[in-house]
Amino acid sequence: MIFFGIKQTNSSFCYDSFLNRKNVKFLELPRHEQKITLKGLFIFALLGINGVFAHNGRFASGSFKENDEIECEIDWELRYKIMKLHTTGHILDYALREVYGKAIDTLGALHGPPKAYTIYKANPPDQVMLNSIENIANEIVQEDKGVNIVYVDAAKLSEVAVNAPNLDRLPASDRYRIVVIDGVNGIPCAGTHVKKTGEVGHIKVLGTEAEQEGFKLYYDAES
Ligand SMILES: [Zn+2]
Repeated sequence: MIFFGIKQTNSSFCYDSFLNRKNVKFLELPRHEQKITLKGLFIFALLGINGVFAHNGRFASGSFKENDEIECEIDWELRYKIMKLHTTGHILDYALREVYGKAIDTLGALHGPPKAYTIYKANPPDQVMLNSIENIANEIVQEDKGVNIVYVDAAKLSEVAVNAPNLDRLPASDRYRIVVIDGVNGIPCAGTHVKKTGEVGHIKVLGTEAEQEGFKLYYDAES
């Protein structure tokens, strides 16, 4: 797996665990004009920290250097699955908030295959709570609510980022990208999402696993 970065200017969200991974290579390339030709490339993350956005992919052949013209190809099947799982993560944040009575901070997540999960900083839920979480999440799916991207400055953050966990850990920025699910929540996020909650299909809570500071909630979104 190769990681590379493209220098961009609209920093919005920090996902520092990604940047701390091994194998991360950053090249400073002009944005947008750049066509990236890496066959078989899939992109799942657009990250902004210090103006650097990173894409995750693999090279079909060779490598590239600064100012080379390259081309990206998205693995749509994988990408769409990640869009559904990412949106499901936001819906589950809401469902946990409803069940626990407050927004639960998250400590980590994998909103993608092979087995998606979010680590929540709370006592693990019992089976009754798990059932409620799944039911509340699927109500949001059935209501087919709009999922919209809103950019705000710091002054408007609290107005738009409603019911969002981790707000106190958000890095300072001129602009934030908030994923707003109508009437549900607004969460700062640089990920990729579906347009309507109905696209998720059906949310399945697969179980929990104890973590040092909370628990891992495994889930899936099935069509
Ligand atoms: Zn997201």
